[in-house]
Amino acid sequence: AQPMLEESNPQAKALGYVDDVNKVDTGKFPKYKQGQLCSNCQLYTAKSDNAGTCTAFPGKLVAGNGWCNLWVKKP
Ligand code: SF4
Repeated sequence: AQPMLEESNPQAKALGYVDDVNKVDTGKFPKYKQGQLCSNCQLYTAKSDNAGTCTAFPGKLVAGNGWCNLWVKKP
């Protein structure tokens, strides 16, 4: 299985990635709106109940309940 993306990963940090939306730094990332989740992001493909791949972070899994500043609504 692929490893989970860590919040400390430099690219993750730059994009404000958190593995739980309750931790979003809304001061730094005001684009965040309630209801946005990795699991409803266009870049996400679910691999289990709460983890999936994200095309922005190849080789890692992101949390379904996570978020980052690249969030785009799944069409
Ligand atoms: Fe989550 Fe989407 Fe950001 Fe990937 S691009 S980390 S799926 S919010």
